[in-house]
Amino acid sequence: MKQQLKVAVIGVGHLGKHHVEHFYSLKNIALVGVYDIDKARAEKISDKYDITCFSTIDELLKSVDAVSIVTPTEEHKKVAIRCIKNKKHVFIEKPITSTVVDADQLINLAEKNKTIIQIGHIERLNPAILPLKEYSINPRFIEVQRLAPYMERGSDVPVVLDLMIHDIDLILTFISSPIKDIEATGISIMTKSIDIANARITFKNGAVANLTSSRVAKDRVRKMKIFQQDLYITVDLLMSLTEVYRAVDNNKNNPKTIMSAPLESNGRNRQILYEKPSIIKQDALKMELTNFVNSIKGVEKPIVDGKAGRNALELAIKIQDKILEGFKI
Ligand code: NAD
Repeated sequence: MKQQLKVAVIGVGHLGKHHVEHFYSLKNIALVGVYDIDKARAEKISDKYDITCFSTIDELLKSVDAVSIVTPTEEHKKVAIRCIKNKKHVFIEKPITSTVVDADQLINLAEKNKTIIQIGHIERLNPAILPLKEYSINPRFIEVQRLAPYMERGSDVPVVLDLMIHDIDLILTFISSPIKDIEATGISIMTKSIDIANARITFKNGAVANLTSSRVAKDRVRKMKIFQQDLYITVDLLMSLTEVYRAVDNNKNNPKTIMSAPLESNGRNRQILYEKPSIIKQDALKMELTNFVNSIKGVEKPIVDGKAGRNALELAIKIQDKILEGFKI
């Protein structure tokens, strides 16, 4: 009988404990244990799931095939290098690392050691984003807003690396063109770092993305609007709502159409079709980790590989640098 894949979680704080919960629920793998520099925290989790609380990373690495690294970002590189050098597959929470040089080092090391490296850009699997696969996306303009109430957790990194990077990763999947220009501005409100940021990214193909992220907001907002020839899509990533408006020459009785309205355009009789793709509510983190396991087994490819994580980080850092050019506390 084939041996079960053995996994462990390194870093069991706010997000790491959800990694544990989902790995525990997955069939055909064995969640072996956890490690955290906060021993009491690790013990609490290991007791709850009746798994091993490892005293060192080296001890953990002797017992597993793969790990989730859910430590603070500045620890990702150090921890991942040890795992990859020991030929373990790694799932690293976003952002991949703090610098592009570090990300490249991890990617090269993983290639050399033939290990999988997957990054936790979870919005790729947001139930409201998944239906966009059904459409041919070629945006001319994207507008994104991501707002969150202030929390101490995550505020150790600028808002671009904490929140905006989610949307940076998404727009890079929608617009496949090199970047021509970046304008960006940001201010600090609660921390000495940037708490509110706005970036306008112009791509060589003429597409523009305007991203706003704030961690000083009353309510949480995560909205994306995509505009392209004859197509307008609004996505509410928080409320799991996707709405599509399409301009067509005639209604081809598309069963997905809910409403249509006449549109007079340059003497052409056209219609606007309104569609609301059905949303399948699934836990995005569980899907990500399932994809990681299946990638190790060779039956899928990582949805977000190291290169994609690196590219999102590279653009985030360029935006961050641009903001810093004009930043005053
Ligand atoms: P957290 O501070 O709640 O937890 C981090 C844990 O790592 C703590 O328990 C800490 O003791 C432990 N730790 C620190 N250094 C360690 C080391 N060297 N070895 C082992 N354990 C160590 O942080 P969090 O909010 O869970 O964030 C963790 C990571 O997840 C960050 O990279 C963050 O950016 C990312 N994150 C991603 C999302 C997402 O939407 N994908 C959301 C939140 C956080």
